[in-house]
Amino acid sequence: MPSNRIKFVAGNWKMNLNCTSAQSLAREIAANNAVSQVEVAICPAFVHLGTVADAIRGSTVKLGAQNVYCEQDGAFTGEISVSMLSDLRCQYVIVGHSERRLILGEDSRMVNAKAKIALAAGISPIICVGETLEQREKGDTSDIIRQQMDGSLAGLEDAAFERLVIAYEPVWAIGTGRTASPQQAQDVHADLRNWLTKRYNAGLSSRVRVLYGGSVKPDNARELMSQPDIDGALVGGASLKADGFLQIIAGAAEASK
Ligand code: PEP
Repeated sequence: MPSNRIKFVAGNWKMNLNCTSAQSLAREIAANNAVSQVEVAICPAFVHLGTVADAIRGSTVKLGAQNVYCEQDGAFTGEISVSMLSDLRCQYVIVGHSERRLILGEDSRMVNAKAKIALAAGISPIICVGETLEQREKGDTSDIIRQQMDGSLAGLEDAAFERLVIAYEPVWAIGTGRTASPQQAQDVHADLRNWLTKRYNAGLSSRVRVLYGGSVKPDNARELMSQPDIDGALVGGASLKADGFLQIIAGAAEASK
């Protein structure tokens, strides 16, 4: 039976595109997204947020950032604050992406601080968790995900869960073309929901949206998002072409039926 959680598809453009191509891609997505039952957000690089905000104005497509700093303002050279994101009309921010955890050394404490500052500013964090291939092969997936959830969601009040989004992104599936099977993804999503039930309660757990990310493409999107605990997708590579991204959104709409 479909849940009453609204499907959500977010595009993570990462460090790609220039100002002109970001603007055209945003315009194309905004103009051609005819699906009303799926929430859609695009997350360009910081320097393109203003341009993309203008390009999607008046459409149903929402704006997200790929990161934020965990202090309000001050001497943090090179960082971007939540109020700067709010000024640009960002409604979402990705925190704890594995590229930031693994390449830039972000730990769950920092991810937690970022999630909290975003929530306090009225921006919904998309909190990413996921295991590496080595961890999966050692049978540690569940422990790793629970540790990341413990740290990244520490101290959050129940009300925060009405707005935050969790993204399960197995590191071995990101940008590799190797997708988790729908069952592999569903198993971890169910585990995440069990964690939420134990820490909070079943009602809260059943309301939180949990996205899958990792080589989502037009041809696997519908089946992944049809799993009972998968509420949408965080899409990297395939969000860089309007056609493919729109097909993934259509897959989410099909999966909600
Ligand atoms: C991502 O970076 O969040 C991601 C899921 O990338 P890709 O879709 O390219 O695997």
